[in-house]
Amino acid sequence: MKSILRKVDQGVQLTKEDAVALLKTHNQSPEFYELIAKANELSRKNYQNRGYIFVQIGINSDPCSGNCKFCSIAKDNFCVEEQASKSQGEILEQVNKIDFARITALFLMTTADYSQEDFLKIGKAVRAILPPHVIMVANVGDFDDAYALKLKDAGFGAAYHIVRLREGSDTALPREQRIRTLDAIKKAGLDLYYCVEPIGREHSYDEMADEMIRAREYGVDVMAVMARTPVRGTAFEHEKPITELEQTKIAAVARLVTNPGKSMNIHEPKKMALLAGVNQLYAEIGVNPRDTKGETEKGRGFGVDEVIALLEEAEYHVD
Ligand code: SF4
Repeated sequence: MKSILRKVDQGVQLTKEDAVALLKTHNQSPEFYELIAKANELSRKNYQNRGYIFVQIGINSDPCSGNCKFCSIAKDNFCVEEQASKSQGEILEQVNKIDFARITALFLMTTADYSQEDFLKIGKAVRAILPPHVIMVANVGDFDDAYALKLKDAGFGAAYHIVRLREGSDTALPREQRIRTLDAIKKAGLDLYYCVEPIGREHSYDEMADEMIRAREYGVDVMAVMARTPVRGTAFEHEKPITELEQTKIAAVARLVTNPGKSMNIHEPKKMALLAGVNQLYAEIGVNPRDTKGETEKGRGFGVDEVIALLEEAEYHVD
């Protein structure tokens, strides 16, 4: 632990072996606290103690061919209370209701099969009413180089895209396709927002370390870790989730290994991880793959005021 943390102090990139060694830290050991203290120190210093709030609007809940086994919207385990798709007017109305004064980014999320052309139209209309300081982020299915450029032209500044843990076996989406989209995002000059997800008890530290390093290789400035939610009706409904302490450790390791330039997030919002270098949280509106409610703000989703309160309790400033 000490020699790896010394490398962090010296600005030396951590190897996969370092990442795995850190992930193996016993959660009830004194070293656990050394690890989270270092992640916390870096975030406080490198991010000037700034906290970030992102908002995501889930646009549609059409049964999705991505068929991720953990997702409430997947076609084989569809368990959202209703199939629905917000109209452009409804989305604009929703956006108009949000007070963006302390919000940095707005994510628009769709299922993998959503019409690319319709998404561009919605993006352009949303961009037209968004305050200039808010980054618009696409969270959609796979796309090619040409579509990545269209997203940029429509006013998107970033895209959330990842290779999920067990992509291709717990999902119907080939890893290579996911990687081609990551490449398209970077080529178009969009920022890539990344996450190690959805973490379950069966995933090895080796698999998690691979995704932390992949994010670093893509030069990610906005990084996250997400635990898998055992949504009722999905293939993982009876699987016990990882503990909050475990997820806090994984967040700390991702913070040190990926070393994102701007922020570190944990999903869903959790207080404990704010001691371990996490300085960014999401509020959510609309459909959400971890919820069976059509409007997650009435279910699992956190509201803007709630995430602001969490960050402020951890003495991150969010103005
Ligand atoms: S996580 Fe996304 S791609 Fe996978 S089934 Fe759900 S909506 Fe589709």
